[in-house]
Amino acid sequence: MATNERWRLKITGIVQGVGFRPCVYSLAVRHRLGGFVLNDSSGVTIEIEGRAEALKAFAHDLRTSPPPLAHIETFDVEPIALLGNSGGVEFSIQASEPRAGESTPISPDIATCGPCLREMNDPADRRYRYPFLNCTDCGPRFTIIRDIPYDRPFTTMAGFKMCAECEREYHDPLNRRFHAQPNACPKCGPQLSFSPGGQIGEAALAEAKQMLAAGNIVAIKGLGGFHLACDATCDAALAELRRRKGRVDKPFALMARDLEMVRRFAHVNDEEARLLESRQRPIVLLRAKDPALPSPLVAPGNLYLGFFLPYSPLHHLLLDDKPLVMTSGNRSDEPIARDNHEALERLATLTDGFLLHNRDIHVVCDDSVVRVLDGREFPVRRSRGYAPMPVHLPSAGPRVLATGGELKATLCLTREDHAYMSQHIGDMENLETLGAFERAFEHLRALFRAEPERVVCDLHPGYLSTRWARDFAAAHGLPLKQAQHHHAHIASLMAENGLDGNEPVIGVSFDGTGYGTDGAIWGGELLLADYRSFRRLGHLKYIPLPGGDASVKRPYRMALAHLTAAGLPLSPDLPCIQAVPDAERQVLDRQLATGFNCVPTSSMGRVFDAAASILGLRHTVTYEAQGAMELEAVADPACRDGYAFEVESAEDGQTIFNPAPVWRKMVADLKSRTALSTIAARFHRAVAALIVASCKSAREQTGVSTVALSGGVFQNVLLLQWAREGLLHHGFHVMTHQLAPPNDGGLALGQAAIGRCLE
Ligand code: ZN
Ligand code: ZN
Ligand code: FE
Repeated sequence: MATNERWRLKITGIVQGVGFRPCVYSLAVRHRLGGFVLNDSSGVTIEIEGRAEALKAFAHDLRTSPPPLAHIETFDVEPIALLGNSGGVEFSIQASEPRAGESTPISPDIATCGPCLREMNDPADRRYRYPFLNCTDCGPRFTIIRDIPYDRPFTTMAGFKMCAECEREYHDPLNRRFHAQPNACPKCGPQLSFSPGGQIGEAALAEAKQMLAAGNIVAIKGLGGFHLACDATCDAALAELRRRKGRVDKPFALMARDLEMVRRFAHVNDEEARLLESRQRPIVLLRAKDPALPSPLVAPGNLYLGFFLPYSPLHHLLLDDKPLVMTSGNRSDEPIARDNHEALERLATLTDGFLLHNRDIHVVCDDSVVRVLDGREFPVRRSRGYAPMPVHLPSAGPRVLATGGELKATLCLTREDHAYMSQHIGDMENLETLGAFERAFEHLRALFRAEPERVVCDLHPGYLSTRWARDFAAAHGLPLKQAQHHHAHIASLMAENGLDGNEPVIGVSFDGTGYGTDGAIWGGELLLADYRSFRRLGHLKYIPLPGGDASVKRPYRMALAHLTAAGLPLSPDLPCIQAVPDAERQVLDRQLATGFNCVPTSSMGRVFDAAASILGLRHTVTYEAQGAMELEAVADPACRDGYAFEVESAEDGQTIFNPAPVWRKMVADLKSRTALSTIAARFHRAVAALIVASCKSAREQTGVSTVALSGGVFQNVLLLQWAREGLLHHGFHVMTHQLAPPNDGGLALGQAAIGRCLE
């Protein structure tokens, strides 16, 4: 006679809030096994009892076909003692067991699933047109969880008491809403309301849609914060939104009803379509078919449109036959608004009405932004749908808090071999953003029980994130380490590639800005780096940055600085010279001649600015990297030839990249009326060729043949492609970003990797 065995299974990963227990339940019933399953603070624990073959089959099935949103990291099985004469086949789901000191990954917010949408569109269903339906496969997670384990009392759904029908679904292991924590229906769940009219439910929705159709701006409360929305085909509404937001020409994101509507306005390849329809639902940057559509005011001067598809039931109900602009509900650079009260106050002057609801958002989470490079996802902003999925580090280490940079701020907390990157927080230049930063930190700390043992920040003494890190470390008696900005960019790419740091890489860190160890502003760096340290093998020639930050907003200043440094005449027929206001010209000439109030910079971002101005494309910018984006947009991708940087050796053995010959040829091409698309392409070719040439000499010097391409300049996909092709052609192993952004949004991950290595 076959004897029974009892096994204990411990499973970690994303296994809570994803329908794992119901899946275990139905498997156990199918294999006629007794026992129980429960969520604890480290994942899921299962005890099963039955004949050995059935136990084996159960474990095999669970491992090979877990629920769709689950992500199993470890799967441990151990035989344990039988519980007396337990011949029964009862299987049960037990209450959660919070335990101190343990943690489990939490699912990001997930777009509405197919079965939920079908219910929402079915007039016979009790959730017909209900904007808050969800199930174990979809809905809010990260933004409503206050604490772990992931159970309703620890979410912002705690205040909604389920009706009898919802309660029944919630407790039925075979129902697809079994333990769906945000489970709700029109009878018992959150409701829409409109302000100022006071409409509720369907009437509130109708009012919002009518206002949008009439060309108004409406603030809409979503999953992770507020959006400001308007009809994307209505020029007047867009102009008004730009005026109120103080946003001159930074592109707006567009939400379309479906893929078909996106294809009316933009080219969409297979990978882009997959990303648009993925459950993360990021904004995908797509090549516009006609830059004047849906309105020339959506993304002026830009060939790309950022599209995303509806990701909450409310979005599906809002979208009709026209795309909507859906931009973050904030003033420029402030964090996105979170609760109703705050939104009504802060967004009052920006909007004509508010479509609100009464489910609280515990932490805000802005939309994510991606591009596609060589058929692969390339992150620009990692936030909703991705945070707080951990990045896997190659080994366990101390718990580190990394506070990131200043622009596009994120933070990172590590625990064991997981790095938890926060959602996008915003530009850390004001107290509102600092508040959002602290909130994001407290949230991650609570969810992952990650009490930091060390703190890492940027080297820049003036960053708010540096000062905050200093205060935090002092208050908690923790060691503080400052990581050089471009070293951190390279380390972030090493970390997402799972490198253990025992072998150094050649890091090309081409960036806008970053504080150097010599007090200069770096950004055109060739480094030999591991996590512990880095050596500067080469860099762009230092050029004076007149007036510091003021030059970042005014690329014509960089054009003048570069032309002057290259010894080229500042001929009055050059567009960049004509762009200098008369009053500023004398001051600039004096500054450049004497170096007064100039900071030396090796920034590659500023080289792109200078090029954009010399070409007459862009003399002043209203958002970061605007000149570089426009330069990329006009460049002819079919152009094969390019200019060349001069490569010089300095006394200390470093290589200096001098752009003077690039400017000389560029000005000559401009004077001979060469097409701008050719000049812009030749410029990109020059930078790509510089990368290949300098990596070749670095390889000869060091024997290292792995290259990491990181830093904000590599958001330029044309440059990245050309550099990558050239490097691959010369036998390099090339790393580019797939998980963390190349810009400062990825910095905290690199800082954390650096911080873990220091004794
Ligand atoms: Zn669903
Ligand atoms: Zn209900
Ligand atoms: Fe940077």
